[in-house]
This record gives sequence, structure tokens and C-alpha cells, in this order.
Amino acid sequence: MTPLRKILCTESSNKQVVCHTRIVCKDVYYLNKIQELGIFTNSFLNLGKTHATTHSFHLNQYRQFGWHITCGKTIQRTDRNEQPFERSRDEMTSENFVDRYRELIEDPTFSRIVEWKANHSGSKIIGCYPVYTPVELIHAAGMLPVGILGGGNRLEIAHADSRFQSFICSIVKSTLELGLTGKLHFLDGIVFHSICDPARNLASVFQRNFPQMMVEFIHFPQNMVSPHTVKYLSAEYRRIKSAYEGLAGKAVTDEALRQSIRIYNEQRKLIRELYRIRSEKPHNLSTAECYVLNRIGTLLPVEEHIAIVKEAIAAINQRDEKPKDRIRVILEGSFCEQPPLELIEGLEAAGCYLLDDDFLQGWRWFLKDIPLDGEPIQNLARAYLDHSVFSGVKHDLREPKSKHLIDKVRETGANAVIILAAKFCEPALFDYALYRQALEREGIPHLYLEFEEKMWIFDKSRTEVETFVESMLFD
Ligand code: SF4
Repeated sequence: MTPLRKILCTESSNKQVVCHTRIVCKDVYYLNKIQELGIFTNSFLNLGKTHATTHSFHLNQYRQFGWHITCGKTIQRTDRNEQPFERSRDEMTSENFVDRYRELIEDPTFSRIVEWKANHSGSKIIGCYPVYTPVELIHAAGMLPVGILGGGNRLEIAHADSRFQSFICSIVKSTLELGLTGKLHFLDGIVFHSICDPARNLASVFQRNFPQMMVEFIHFPQNMVSPHTVKYLSAEYRRIKSAYEGLAGKAVTDEALRQSIRIYNEQRKLIRELYRIRSEKPHNLSTAECYVLNRIGTLLPVEEHIAIVKEAIAAINQRDEKPKDRIRVILEGSFCEQPPLELIEGLEAAGCYLLDDDFLQGWRWFLKDIPLDGEPIQNLARAYLDHSVFSGVKHDLREPKSKHLIDKVRETGANAVIILAAKFCEPALFDYALYRQALEREGIPHLYLEFEEKMWIFDKSRTEVETFVESMLFD
């Protein structure tokens, strides 16, 4: 659960302000931070209770923990207290969807999904590790596919460290930690794919540690041009389908699969529309909002998500914000492990309009609708081969990935690229070498940043992005 924080600063003189503060401490981390600030005495604070006080403090007391205070304004946020970059008043208008769904996507206990399972007795849930899962196969079997995208920065790694080597990406460890601490108890199965060695190893570790869970592993083809590739991938999908039929206790007919493809086509089309709006009018739709609206789709039944995104698009189309003086950027490299939301917000606040990104790439994998005519499994396989996005974990020698990145820059009219790669993510690091060569050849400025999903402190990233933006704006 996230804490609620309300602060009304009423007076200010020489950086000393008087504040009316109302705090509900719902997690231990937050409670500790509040205690460190010294607003309340330790004995006064209780988890789950609401506390209110009027007090005066020095601004720096708050800033050392990243709180953003503006005198004379009420500040209400539901995120953790690290706010990496100051937000302008205009940016507050785009907080609607972020604030509305932040708790859902940052909840390490998956309470919404647990609730769904309690209300759908007998229903099964399958966890989908990044990057891409043919969710239609799960949906058509009457089960709920749920994105298992690591533990974010709200999970302390206490057990998983001993199961993996040190130099490994955070998402692998945090996903295991979720399992070892019982937070994935609602899963009946989980599916991994051949994206990299750590993901492959994680599948085996899950198999050994959670025998009650059906652990599947999809071997995606490495050769996209062989005449046997479609046949191979179709066979792989049939194997998965048959496993899920056994788990769900029902056969998946072609008609049911077509129906699932149709629904996910609709969801992906709506997400493409969000991306189109953000690319054309980034002043009307922030990347943080676009991300949150996309990410909740990994946690909700697809039908529910479609309704939310339709409503969101209608609301966004009513907006008419003023464009700001910012650089226009393509962001690449976060296709698997996801950066903290605070970092995404920070990139924008530092002066970037992000016109495109590869966040949650697997959930919007296809560039166009999957056909409904013909054999649905083959259609799914063909779409993977011929109509899916380029990615660090899809090896397609027909077209270099760097060409796609350069095309994106040209098509969107971006001025620069930020490579935002997860620490220790080998596929992203290998790609960076290719991207860098191509970007330098084309004379496109770029910035390389590393992140970890568990990061809290954003000072270094902030400085790097601000310097990069300034070097372009004032060049
Ligand atoms: S972040 Fe990179 S290395 Fe880690 S599991 Fe994902 S693709 Fe593999």
C-alpha cells in the first residue's frame, strides 16, 4: 500500500516554512523516513493511522529526501517520497492517470489480482515474464495473463541474492524474491522465454523452488528466414496451448483463439493510438501517463483495460496544453526491466519530450493487427516473425536494429536519442554498441543512461539529462 501525503505550506521566510501535514503511514519504509524527518516523535507514529500536525521546518530537511515543496500550495502525491526532479505547475495537470493508477502498478502485493482471483473462483492466473508472451493462448483457455515485471523499488531483496551471482539485472532477482516471499502465491503458472541467459536460468530456479506452479519456457526461433521457422514456432505454440488446456481443464478451439486475438488486437490498437498521440502532441500526453496506461494492461483483464484506455483517449483528446521548449527524444533500451516511474517522470521534467520508447514492449509487440482469417496459431507465429517490433531480444538479420532506431528518429522528427538500459542487461548493452555506431554515423546526439528498477536516488541521472538537454538547447 502506498502512503498518502498532504502538505500545505502556508508561510515562508528565509527557507523556513510552516506546514500543515497529514500523513497516513502505510508502509514501513515511509514510516522510517517520516521519523527521520523528525516531524513526529517515534512514539507518536503508528502504521496505518492518520497523523496530523502543524510544524515548521527548514526546506533542506525535506529536500534531502527528495520531497518537492512549494510554499502556498497543497501537494498531494501517492508515490514514494523520492521526487527526483521538480515539477512545474503545468506538469501537475498531467498527473491524472499517473496518480489514479500509480498504486495499482507499484503494489508489490498484487492485491488487485489477488482480489480478482478471490472473486473468480476456480479461475487460473498465468504470470508472464518479459519480454513477449502470446497472451492469446492463455486468454483463450479462460485464464488471466498477468505481467510479472519484477518488484520495482518497493521490494527489499533479502533472499534472492543468495541464488544468483552479483552481476545480474535487478528484475531477475526481484522476481525471484517475489516468489520466495510468497507474493506470487496467486499464480498457477508462469512463462519465461529465450531472451537471455538470466531469464533462462530464472525459469529453472522457479521450477525447482515452486513445484506447485506450472513453469513454461518458450523457445523463440533464432533464425527468422528459414522456411521452417513458422512451422517450428507454430509447433512451440501448440505445445504451450496443450499445457494450458491441461491446466485450465478445457480445450482451446480455433474460434476461441480467434476471439482472443481479436480482443488483444483491439487492446494493442488502442495502445498504438496512445503512442501516436504522445508522439504527435507530447504536450498533451506525458510519457509517465502513457506508460501507466499501458502498464495497467499487464495487470487487468484485457476487457477492463480496453474500457479504461478508450475513456483515457477520449479525455486526452480534450486536452489543449501549450507546448514547451524541450528537446524531442526517442528512448530505447528498457524493453525488459522497467525503470522506476520517478525516473520516467524525471526525464520529462528535465526538459525532454519523449516521442517514442520501448517500455513494456512485449505487451504491444505487433505493428499491426494479427489476421483473424485462417489458422490462428499460424497467424500468431507469422505475426511474431514478420509484424513485430524490433527488439534487443529478437534476432532478425533481415533488418539491422539500428536502422529501425534511425528510422524512428527520422519519422518522429526527434532531435536526440536516450539509451536507457537496465544495469547488467546484456542484450541492451550489445544493442548499445550498434546504436552508438549508427547514431554517430547519422550525427544524431545521444545519451547513455543506466538504471535499476530498485533505484531510489536520481541525482546522477538528473544531472546527466539536464546537462544533455542544456547542451542541445543552448548549442
Ligand atoms: S533485463 Fe536484460 S538481462 Fe535481465 S532478464 Fe531482461 S533481457 Fe535478460
